[in-house]
Amino acid sequence: MIHYPDAILKLIASFSLLPGIGRKTAERLALHLLHAPDHEAAALAADIIALKSAVRICATCFALSDQEKCRICADPSRDHGVICVVENPADMAAIEKSKVFSGSYHVLGGALSPIDGIGPDDIRLAELFGRADPGIVREIIIATRTNVEGEATAAYILDHLKSRNITITRIASGVPMGGDLQYVDPLTMQKAMEKRYGC
Ligand SMILES: [Zn+2]
Repeated sequence: MIHYPDAILKLIASFSLLPGIGRKTAERLALHLLHAPDHEAAALAADIIALKSAVRICATCFALSDQEKCRICADPSRDHGVICVVENPADMAAIEKSKVFSGSYHVLGGALSPIDGIGPDDIRLAELFGRADPGIVREIIIATRTNVEGEATAAYILDHLKSRNITITRIASGVPMGGDLQYVDPLTMQKAMEKRYGC
């Protein structure tokens, strides 16, 4: 690498830590910011600081939020009798984008993976079971991924909730095996949600 001043080298190293950013892209971004107007660079820096201080996790569904309750949990027009269980906020965003779902969510924060040492206590399963009150919840839609970890998580949830008087469904049709929900187009997601089946 060319001999850049330390400040540039440090920024390149920081950008390189981001997912999907290789050394070359990191270098291009750093040089772009060097030549960008001062206010642009300052705004980016401020946004990064604000991200860490202003974004919190919804106390109910564990989605990303800027309030104690996220916008969906606080919205009386959403159906809080239906909970869609997802692995992470990006999967939730993919379902929201399809505009087919008007219920609420539960973000697990991962999936069961014994190989990686991720057990039931490491994701928000106890919190889900705590929310699954048949007096309030009619249906739980399991929208974990279709890979081994997602299926194991779905089976675990079903096993724990089948004795309660709640309909448990699984989205499937159109979502590719091993599929990452983030990359499912909105129309396919809409079909997958409409054609969910009982577990
Ligand atoms: Zn919420």
